[in-house]
Amino acid sequence: MPHEPMAPFPRLLSPLKVGAHILGNRALMGSMHTRLESLDCAVDRLSLFYAERARGGAGLIVTGGYAPCQDGLLDETGPLLVTTEQADALKPIPQAVHAEGGKIILQILHTGRYAKIARPVGASDIPSRINPRAPRALSTAEVWQTIEDFVRCAELAQRAGFDGVEIMGSEGYLLNQFTVTRTNKRSDEFGGSVENRHRLPVEIVRRTRERLGPEFLLMFRVSALDLVEDGAPADEIAQLAQAVQAAGADIINTGIGWHEARIPTIAYVVPRAAWRFAAARIKKAVTIPVIVSNRINTPALAEDILASGDADMVSMARPFLADADFVRKAAQGRADEINTCIACNQACLDYIFADRPATCLVNPRAGRELEFSLMPPPAARRKVAVIGAGAAGLACALSAAERGHAVTLFEAGPEIGGQLNLARAVPGKQEFNELLRYFKQGVARHGVTLKLDTRADAPSLAAGHYDRIVVATGVRPRLPQIPGIPHPKVVSYADLLSGRVQAGHKVAVIGAGGIGFDVATFLLHESPADAARPQTVAQFQAEWGVDTSPTAAGGLKPAQPVSAAREVTLLQRKPEKPGRTLGMSTGWALKAELARRGLRTLSGCTYERIDDTGLHLSVNGVPQTLVVDTIVLCAGQDSENTLAAELRALGLAPEIIGGADLAAELDALRAIDQGTRLGLAL
Ligand code: NAP
Ligand code: SF4
Repeated sequence: MPHEPMAPFPRLLSPLKVGAHILGNRALMGSMHTRLESLDCAVDRLSLFYAERARGGAGLIVTGGYAPCQDGLLDETGPLLVTTEQADALKPIPQAVHAEGGKIILQILHTGRYAKIARPVGASDIPSRINPRAPRALSTAEVWQTIEDFVRCAELAQRAGFDGVEIMGSEGYLLNQFTVTRTNKRSDEFGGSVENRHRLPVEIVRRTRERLGPEFLLMFRVSALDLVEDGAPADEIAQLAQAVQAAGADIINTGIGWHEARIPTIAYVVPRAAWRFAAARIKKAVTIPVIVSNRINTPALAEDILASGDADMVSMARPFLADADFVRKAAQGRADEINTCIACNQACLDYIFADRPATCLVNPRAGRELEFSLMPPPAARRKVAVIGAGAAGLACALSAAERGHAVTLFEAGPEIGGQLNLARAVPGKQEFNELLRYFKQGVARHGVTLKLDTRADAPSLAAGHYDRIVVATGVRPRLPQIPGIPHPKVVSYADLLSGRVQAGHKVAVIGAGGIGFDVATFLLHESPADAARPQTVAQFQAEWGVDTSPTAAGGLKPAQPVSAAREVTLLQRKPEKPGRTLGMSTGWALKAELARRGLRTLSGCTYERIDDTGLHLSVNGVPQTLVVDTIVLCAGQDSENTLAAELRALGLAPEIIGGADLAAELDALRAIDQGTRLGLAL
């Protein structure tokens, strides 16, 4: 008998019964605030955004959070669902998803004391360290009204055509503020005993089920681990999960960590699937399906979790930004074509924190489907040369080839990737390997002619009769003008991260931008081999003080001290504190990690000279000498655009992208965006 080929990811792709609904598979596109909700054409943009993910196979989609009342808003312009007019305006969103065969539920989110509004409300009047606005404690009557607001919001979601709602009870938002003693000091029926503290979420679920009937999909998102002092212990969390099940919830989603937690929960420094143990605990407590979440970004990992029985469904939010076709590719045996979320947060969370609509570093189309769908098809198949296979060149070559152009990609080095190869050498940044795999795979699949070890010169490009020439030759490290700079102690960040040179025990790093911090991370880890290995979950838990024992309040314990491989001093000329340019949602964790490893930083530096002793400098006018073995230069970059000038001298008009175009503040985000846009416009 011939063997039937086994379907890839059988558990991930198997249907799941949730209440009255059968979901096609176990991949949930989790809720994300996108800030698309407050833009012009918001409903058009959201409809396209979600419909594309439904078409790509997401088993169920959860929208960003909608406030059930004014007090619950994220901020003054945050999404609100309180009127029939607002509900009717949302109708195209579920319609678009249903037209693609998908299902979508609306998240109801009351932000409580996290609200960035004039006077937030909370369980008690205890302020949060991440919101300068002090909250006012809700009166008992107002809490009962809030329950009604949630139910009314669910009714409006049903009117709009959504398949159900997710009641947001995690991440330190209002319902979570009621469930723990940290923020709930009430003495009425909503405070004190566990049952009283759980009354608000349980009553919302009970009344929603009563009023909306058995067909309406009701998901509750429980905080599976608070990660804050005086957070809930595991048995209380299990009790809450059981109570919402009894009150009528169809499925339980899990959230990890309050927004004010001092432990990273989704950033790249968090190992993949680090929090599955918390979902597994809830799974043991209830009989309805349980969803695991956070730092799960490949179908293989999702399959592994489902196979182990730790959860029934896997929530992936950012991975669906990175690739709308995540599930479809997995189902078609094309998992290696998935554009994997690298957990950088640079274009999703960091954009949202900066009041910008979310998109994705590896997928600039995300959230801009309307804009990108308007790009005209190519008039003719063109012969295109792209010079430089770094992030910008790769993105351009790939998107041009996807549109059918004949693309030749020249790379002077032996491999593709450019600066991405340096990034992936940094401890914690191993996810960049996935981006390189995606580009490598895409370039081969779309028939790009890749010429490695080939330094394209202007005359041969001119002789090649290309319709378009794209120069993506990148950057070269800037050499600061410091007396003694040719000293053998001095190395560039590129030489260090590529392994061409080794650093000594005492190191000074000149320049405290993103690369300076990357280099400090690299230097402070044990060895290059250690640097290349992702941290294990156990190491992460020990270093950050995560307690997996069921009795630990909030899941916290004292962090274990870590050792550092070297003594590192990070320097900058500006007087301000170093690290201000790091990502808002990741920089704090990186700085905490480096501080634990003893990183010393100096601002206000004037570099005097370098000699056999080390680096002579003055710090805010006070002279000093750093006795070091190695000085690493991370002083920014200059554009490498010699080729562009030579092409122009021959009368050609090359397009210039990435670092060759503008070195200042170049990062993979800008490079990929610019490269993709040009590739689509050719
Ligand atoms: P950068 O952020 O511009 O930092 C360059 C550093 O060099 C600054 O600290 C600057 O500070 C110093 N510097 C500049 N000119 C100098 C000179 N002539 N002599 C001595 N010091 C000088 O650039 P980068 O670190 O090379 O990073 C490049 C890009 O990649 C940036 O956009 C960065 O955000 C991005 N990146 C991001 C990450 C991330 O984790 N998000 C990681 C790596 C890179 P002073 O002028 O004050 O000395
Ligand atoms: Fe993932 Fe980064 Fe894209 Fe956000 S921007 S979805 S973290 S790859």
